[in-house]
Amino acid sequence: MTVQIGSLVRDRMSGTPAIVVPSIDRWSYSTVSVMHLNENRWPTTLMTSAEKTFFEEYDFLEIPKGIGRVVIMADMEGVTGVPNKWAAVTPAEMTGGQRTEAYDAACRAMTLDVLMAVAGARAAGAREVVVADSHWNDTNLAEADFDCQVLRGSNAAIRAMLGADATMLIGWHARAGAGAACLPHTYTERIRRLSIDGQEVGEPGMLARLAAGRGVPVVMVAGDQAACDEISGDIGCLTTSTKSVDAAGVVRHRTRIEVMREIVGNAYTAIHGLALGTRPELPRHQPGQFEVEIHAGYEVDGDTEVERVAQSKYRIRTGSILDTYGAFQRFVERLPALT
Ligand SMILES: [Zn+2]
Repeated sequence: MTVQIGSLVRDRMSGTPAIVVPSIDRWSYSTVSVMHLNENRWPTTLMTSAEKTFFEEYDFLEIPKGIGRVVIMADMEGVTGVPNKWAAVTPAEMTGGQRTEAYDAACRAMTLDVLMAVAGARAAGAREVVVADSHWNDTNLAEADFDCQVLRGSNAAIRAMLGADATMLIGWHARAGAGAACLPHTYTERIRRLSIDGQEVGEPGMLARLAAGRGVPVVMVAGDQAACDEISGDIGCLTTSTKSVDAAGVVRHRTRIEVMREIVGNAYTAIHGLALGTRPELPRHQPGQFEVEIHAGYEVDGDTEVERVAQSKYRIRTGSILDTYGAFQRFVERLPALT
């Protein structure tokens, strides 16, 4: 596509401003989709044009001076339309190289959710957007679908946060043990509970504190309702719920168009706020002490980095939360494989 996602345009007929967004009706680059904005700059209707008529229908608007780099970390369990089943989010490498239809669909859905955040962030003035694939082996997103840098894994994302202005978490899930949640877990299914500085966290809460270690705020989270509730009660950023799960594990998916409006709108609002000078409060991330509780049967001994404080409880603390995260990752590597 020759029109960059996140371009700010204006409908020549009506004068309505709009943001160029990914096409959701078909996986096609010969059409251009835009979300029109109302007077509050909130996305309303989705319009799709053939690429060749787009340039007759829309004028390009200059994007006001905004902010620098935004790092988008992407997971899969909380992505729009992804079912509450591990099989749907299990990469091909884990299933003998065969890409299942369900996993393929989840990859496409993840790409769309991330591109919506890219669109909102750019339209609000983010000069550079970096995407970090952070699900399983970090090999779910195809670089060809993005016109920005695609990094692999949380460590690469955290490095990219150096000097960045904001982080967004797209496609996330609730912590281990959360009820009424889509595929809840914390880093690995072997972990029962994780606390940082006394606050129980899931992955979004952990990542918000690691980002804070770089001085960067998490300004928007998209994921299932349980993930949104968890992070709202913790750091209070903008959230977009993609689906909710009842007590029986049955998922109620929101429509893609509803979610699209909200991801684009929230990403736009969050970055626009930063560009206007809002400084969100960072969560407490010092001393950054991790307390990890492991499910019975997966215990290992402590070592020089990790103090074993009870049968299945461990404490990790170094000079900085980022070093502690490194020690935590090495600790998880030592845990026995899931049976
Ligand atoms: Zn994941």
